Amino acid sequence: MTDHKLPGHPHFAYRGNDLFAEDLMVSELASLHGTPLFVYSKAAMLSALAAYQRGFAGRDVQICYAMKANSSLGVLQVFAGAGCGFDIVSGGELERVLAAGGQANKIIFSGVGKTRAEMRQALAAGIGCFNVESEAELDVLSGVAAAMNLRAPVSIRVNPNVDPKTHPYISTGLKGNKFGVAHEDALRIYQHAAALPGLQVAGIDCHIGSQITETTPYLDAMDRVLDLVASIESAGIELEHIDFGGGLGINYNGDTPPEADVLWRQLLAKLDARGYGSKKLMIEPGRSLVGNAGICLTEVLYLKPGEQKNFCIIDAAMNDLPRPAMYQAFHAIVPAVAGGPAPATTYDVVGPVCESGDWIGRDRPLAVNAGDVLAVLSAGAYCMSMASNYNTRGRAAEVLVDGSQAHLIRRREDAQDQMRHEQLVAE
Ligand SMILES: *Cc1c(COP(=O)(O)O)cnc(C)c1O
Repeated sequence: MTDHKLPGHPHFAYRGNDLFAEDLMVSELASLHGTPLFVYSKAAMLSALAAYQRGFAGRDVQICYAMKANSSLGVLQVFAGAGCGFDIVSGGELERVLAAGGQANKIIFSGVGKTRAEMRQALAAGIGCFNVESEAELDVLSGVAAAMNLRAPVSIRVNPNVDPKTHPYISTGLKGNKFGVAHEDALRIYQHAAALPGLQVAGIDCHIGSQITETTPYLDAMDRVLDLVASIESAGIELEHIDFGGGLGINYNGDTPPEADVLWRQLLAKLDARGYGSKKLMIEPGRSLVGNAGICLTEVLYLKPGEQKNFCIIDAAMNDLPRPAMYQAFHAIVPAVAGGPAPATTYDVVGPVCESGDWIGRDRPLAVNAGDVLAVLSAGAYCMSMASNYNTRGRAAEVLVDGSQAHLIRRREDAQDQMRHEQLVAE
């Protein structure tokens, strides 16, 4: 009996007919904890991180996990324990990092709409850097920091105007996007920042998009950013670090993104060739650290044959797995126990939510019966962190697998949890 690995999921494999997460049978996890259930592999997270660490061996680099991809405390704890910093986009995320044992000085704060209260909170915590996205934000941050007798360390997010060739909703480095400042305005805005009393210019950053599967957009963005570094530094403003953002894609459906170490060997060669090899580097990977480290287990509730379509109705829905509804995204769906009824039937796999957009997979050949458990793959990133309570569905439970140990890192939410902040109008 040989292991049959799932593409892109090195720590999830069939042993015989049974799908395993590391050394645990996922069908047993489903019966123990119920469904829908997110199952994460700690080894898969650490091996994804190790690919970056290999690529950066011998360099001065800070890897900041972009935690919006998956912000569950047990997941953050894995990365904090491995020495990662964090890229946050809200005050809530800051509290999560600190609760999970992350170090404040390794936190960078991104996002186009930071509030004054969030700025104060982050300054009081002593975060490493604010990645500022507009000139107006610079002025406000300077005022907030000066009122606290502090200088806020800042980097300005520049928009390199390169096409990452990904879905328009996750492309962020083009001129028409809301993110960052335009390349041609960057030098002037740096001069403005350097003159503000509450700021300390620390670096420069960019982030061109997500689920990028080609190397060229990264090389082009690096060239554009290094052009700016040259002009900013010749204007007498020193930049301590360069932050190249995140965005590296994963294999959802035969996608072939470069391995993190291979990508970074090419990028570092360019950095060296242009004479910036000794600068401190930062990166902000999210999806590529967690996406294929997680699956979502779900039970088949009903099979509903139809004239035009057969439906496979499962107990996970768009509130648990929002990516298909949001971006027409593809998640592979496989049985927890292989060898169901032959031949397979083609199904649209849909959830119980009252929306036609509530589908998880379309036209999937599946050999299933009601009561079977399915695994929705590549569910570690942008699933639980985007989950909602729509239809008053409690959010799923989450389990972190470490070898033959399963740790429940989030219990299933019930209706009481959901109503906790509400009250009836007094009569
Ligand atoms: C979302 C985001 C990231 C992470 O993107 P991934 O595609 O998940 O790697 C990094 N930096 C910023 C500023 C982001 O908004």
